Amino acid sequence: MDTKPPYAIAIHGGAGTILKENMTEEKESAYLAALDTALSIGETVLKNGGSALDAVEKTISYMEDCPLFNSGRGAVFTHDGKNELDASIMDGSNQMAGAVGGVSTVRHPIVLARAVMEKSPHVLLSGRGAEQFAEENGLEIVDPSWFYTEDRWNSLQKVLEKENQNGKTGDASPVINSDHKFGTVGCVALDSQGNLAAGTSTGGMTNKRWNRFGDSPVIGAGTYASNDACAVSCTGHGEYFIRYSVAHDLWARVNYLGESLETAADYIINQKLKEKGGEGGLIAVDKNGNIAMPFNSAGMYRAYSKPGEREINIYKE
Ligand code: ASP
Repeated sequence: MDTKPPYAIAIHGGAGTILKENMTEEKESAYLAALDTALSIGETVLKNGGSALDAVEKTISYMEDCPLFNSGRGAVFTHDGKNELDASIMDGSNQMAGAVGGVSTVRHPIVLARAVMEKSPHVLLSGRGAEQFAEENGLEIVDPSWFYTEDRWNSLQKVLEKENQNGKTGDASPVINSDHKFGTVGCVALDSQGNLAAGTSTGGMTNKRWNRFGDSPVIGAGTYASNDACAVSCTGHGEYFIRYSVAHDLWARVNYLGESLETAADYIINQKLKEKGGEGGLIAVDKNGNIAMPFNSAGMYRAYSKPGEREINIYKE
């Protein structure tokens, strides 16, 4: 890109086995409309001179309320039939970051992650302590049933049935969603001040247990932002994204090796991670407003915009 745009934004709503042949027209339109609305929320903030951080928080808050995505309402269920939510946010202008893991009563985990960043001396809070911090800071608290959706509940029942048939209860391996759709949400943005921000929010993976966290609340794995290079949000099989520090790895390749965002992101997702069996994708924006959205699964709910360009996609081209 020759000239740096005044703003740029990208979002994802999860990657996985998302195939056109398995999608009804109705469902596809619902996803496209939700992505469109989410993107518009972030665009409006940025067009009005708002911060990348606000754009990320507001966009993700909307997606957390949308039952189509695996974050907030619509989150997947744990083995014990609960919704345990993880989220993180990072401010590229000052390397500040906030994250929460395993919360069940906070309507907007992304807002809580930002509160952790701005109002606590810590980066990552979990479980009951994180919820207490939310209460003390006046965040919206809901009954855990707020997050319930029939679809996700049925997904859990299917996985449990399979486990029972195979006599596999107690299996220690992470269980990927039965439908192989991850559904996590994320947003990255560049604002008119040249600041970058990234955020990610998820219910994790269906049938997760033992208070498992994936990459989404781990700074450097699922989320990373630094004004000197880029902002990144990931989605996919979290254990791999943690092991390979995917979000930070992308920043490092761009910053230290001088690779283009696209080259670096494509290498990490379509070579490095793919060779290891790590399924998923990421969205990223660099300091010049370039955007990359690679994924190695069948599809990824995704969208981006900058002045003069706007796209919403689900499947591989
Ligand atoms: N990365 C998330 C996790 O492992 C799942 C996802 O992206 O859908 O918890």
